[in-house]
Amino acid sequence: SDHTLEYPESPQSMNWSSFYPAYVAGGAPEDSTKITKLSKDVEVVDIGCGFGGLLVALATLLPETLMLGLEIRTSVTQFVQERIWALREQSGGNLYQNAACIRANTMKFLPNFFKKAQLSKIFICFPDPHFKARKHKARIVSTTLNSEYAYALRPGGIVYTITDVEALHLWMVQHLDAHPSFVRVSNEEVEKDECVNVMQNETEEGKKVTRNKGQKFVALFRRVEDPPWE
Ligand code: SAM
Repeated sequence: SDHTLEYPESPQSMNWSSFYPAYVAGGAPEDSTKITKLSKDVEVVDIGCGFGGLLVALATLLPETLMLGLEIRTSVTQFVQERIWALREQSGGNLYQNAACIRANTMKFLPNFFKKAQLSKIFICFPDPHFKARKHKARIVSTTLNSEYAYALRPGGIVYTITDVEALHLWMVQHLDAHPSFVRVSNEEVEKDECVNVMQNETEEGKKVTRNKGQKFVALFRRVEDPPWE
């Protein structure tokens, strides 16, 4: 339950140094509990990252960008962190320094981790469908949560969604379309976006759907500028 979830009081109080030691301004501190600034902020988030396939693929595609997987299951979070540590070591410490995973319930604590307009991309890949109507409130795309995504995303930033469940795809499109902060990205642009290929083919769920010859529904939404105050 959430009793055991650790989360910072505010983005300023989050200590990222143990997650991205190579990006600690002035080198990693001796005292790992000390809050130290990174030379850049986390910019890309994978919500419900599962076993980390997307992160691992994006880490080398966007090598200058700090990315974070958020996952609610403790053992899965640990697995992803260890996967990243191993990849860092195998590359002689040169690669994968920009990826990390943290245990979090993204339905509750997103604004504790990220300040307004901090993120450039949010990935929502194959979220749990919660088929039954009384379970729809557990869906990771909703009117309330979309406002949190809009808060954390900078204007021009993108929410990436993919699912193999058509009803959930339509739900996500309906809720993001209805939100004043988001506009759908055109098919032409979707096809050109190299992250879409990663989302389709490098996520563990994406691979499973390919093996089962299932369909994948993709939709991208851009965060628009807030209207000027009147
Ligand atoms: N995105 C991965 C992929 O495409 O392979 C994993 C998809 S899996 C079907 C959904 C994941 O979301 C699970 O690992 C689950 O534990 C995680 N999850 C569900 N609710 C969550 C929440 N509120 N916060 C963070 N992670 C959550």
